[in-house]
Amino acid sequence: MKAILQDLSRAELVRLTEELGGQKFRAEQIFLGLMQGKKISELPIPPAMRAALLERFEDEPVKIAETLVSEEDGTKKYLFSLADGNLIEGVFMRHAYGNTQCVSTQVGCRMGCKFCASTLGGRVRDLTAGEILAEVLTVNRAEGGTVKDRAVTNVVLMGSGEPFDNYDAVVKFLRNLSAEGGICISPRNVSLSTCGLVPEMRRFASEGIPLNLTVSLHATCDEERARTMPIANRYRISEILGACAEYFEKTGRRYIFEYTLISGENADEAHALALAELLRGRPCHVNLIRLNEVKERSLKAAAERDARRFLHVLEEQGISATLRRSMGSDIAGACGQLRNSRR
Ligand code: SAH
Repeated sequence: MKAILQDLSRAELVRLTEELGGQKFRAEQIFLGLMQGKKISELPIPPAMRAALLERFEDEPVKIAETLVSEEDGTKKYLFSLADGNLIEGVFMRHAYGNTQCVSTQVGCRMGCKFCASTLGGRVRDLTAGEILAEVLTVNRAEGGTVKDRAVTNVVLMGSGEPFDNYDAVVKFLRNLSAEGGICISPRNVSLSTCGLVPEMRRFASEGIPLNLTVSLHATCDEERARTMPIANRYRISEILGACAEYFEKTGRRYIFEYTLISGENADEAHALALAELLRGRPCHVNLIRLNEVKERSLKAAAERDARRFLHVLEEQGISATLRRSMGSDIAGACGQLRNSRR
């Protein structure tokens, strides 16, 4: 695979164009073209410079291979092919407040969560910062957005992969995503979801990127968490809560817990009470979602009624919480399902 031009920051593009004997304004043209979701072969630069770039860089690192549209709610699922033939997926959701794109950060995942489809074939490779950015730029263009008038207004790192298992690329992606003059999506409109890699959570607190830090909790004690999330054998919930508190101290951002409701596993009233006990007084919010059942796994979703009761108990206990609709279930909305069906 050639290098990825979208990996370069604006300053790095200036250096590259100098190297290629071009003037500084060419770097701006390249930067703007890429941010518009253009391929190198479409950039408005002299043909010799385009050819020089194409020798070193992938023309279109992230191609749309397939688009599925949910008949239930209009959610779109994009299957992308990468330059080396790997497949990844992303979801585009329209909301009243804007449109959210869910991006993948790795091909596959090695965290091994028992309810998740992304992890079935393990981790194949990390995505580069530019590949993650190209997911956003490609969809923004496909949805009719421009740099100034974006179709993608919010980004969530909740597709395949564990963002903090690909730390450097993800941080670089976040900086390039919010860079001035580019697509300029502010960290406030970005959510990063982690299964709770504590050292990276702590490191991230000092990066100066005040996004919506989201942690996949899915249990109220370490023993139960380890049944579905192998990472629980490495880091304790108490350590995760400590890292979240540090994030709040350093960024002023409250944090979010994801809690997927699985029948017979974590969805009883006693679990709701235990969760409230664990989180009481913390500046956090809980996102509940019923399991999106994955056919290769035996776990079952909690009943709608049980999910509503769980929410009610949390609210009664004074915990800020919402029960999310699971979107796009008719188009394999859960992470990794579409890719698995096409491999
Ligand atoms: N690796 C990151 C982000 C990936 S998934 C993480 O673990 O947070 C984004 C969210 O979807 C996580 O909370 C994850 O636990 C949840 N998830 C994965 N598979 C799911 C499924 N089948 N049904 C419901 N939620 C799921």
